[in-house]
Amino acid sequence: MITIEKLYKKFDDLEVLKGIDVTLEKGKTAVIIGPSGSGKTTLLRCLNLLEIPDSGKITLGTKKIEFIPSTKLKTREMMTFRKQTGMVFQGYNLFPHLTAIENIMEGQIVVLKRSKEEARKKALTLLEKVGLKDRGDMYPHQLSGGQQQRIGIARAMAMDPEVLLFDEPTSALDPELVGEVLKVMKDLAKEGMTMVIVTHEMKFAHDVADQVIFMDQGIVMENGTPDEVFDHSNNPRLLQFLNKVI
Ligand code: ADP
Repeated sequence: MITIEKLYKKFDDLEVLKGIDVTLEKGKTAVIIGPSGSGKTTLLRCLNLLEIPDSGKITLGTKKIEFIPSTKLKTREMMTFRKQTGMVFQGYNLFPHLTAIENIMEGQIVVLKRSKEEARKKALTLLEKVGLKDRGDMYPHQLSGGQQQRIGIARAMAMDPEVLLFDEPTSALDPELVGEVLKVMKDLAKEGMTMVIVTHEMKFAHDVADQVIFMDQGIVMENGTPDEVFDHSNNPRLLQFLNKVI
């Protein structure tokens, strides 16, 4: 469903992705773990072209995109590719001047050209799904971090993406608010939403992921089921990482 082939990305002289080859399955949850600076977020951002890889290929659903050094991608090609993904950010990134429901409607109206009525209907369904039916008319600053992030998830889902990408969705939250966000993600996983999640929540990864990818220094070091990666790997770098975080 998502195939990443020989993906390379540099920032100036810093090689951040050094040939990533990974396949992710439709309807499954993949979690990317690894030390800080190992390239997890960059890989995730490459999947929706917030970062443009230097070379390699990504196939997502029916769209394939090849990155050729010093060749600019066509805007149209980028837009159609990006539309297949929904991104949930660490810092929520909600529009502060729009209410919760308007945040969920905005992209539907502007990007997908849905009518206001249709966008509102979809937003109401999603508000209910994330447990915030009664908070639609509130502004982001009137909501807790956990509630804002649940709106962030609803906003990403409103675009009917093929895959939801999460960039450390709980790491800006107070500990007592983490659970409510993870619960929404767990429900989505159960429903068969395709998700790729960068997270430090190891218990969540262990319980919910179908696939765990361990990155270190810009390469994929381990890739397997939670059981294989967490409980049966002898990779010293992975063991060192797990010892530190668990
Ligand atoms: P991780 O998510 O595993 O912590 P990142 O993908 O965020 O790692 O970052 C990998 C490396 O790339 C880090 O050294 C980081 O400083 C660097 N980096 C990330 N984004 C940029 C950028 N836009 N410009 C320059 N360097 C960057």
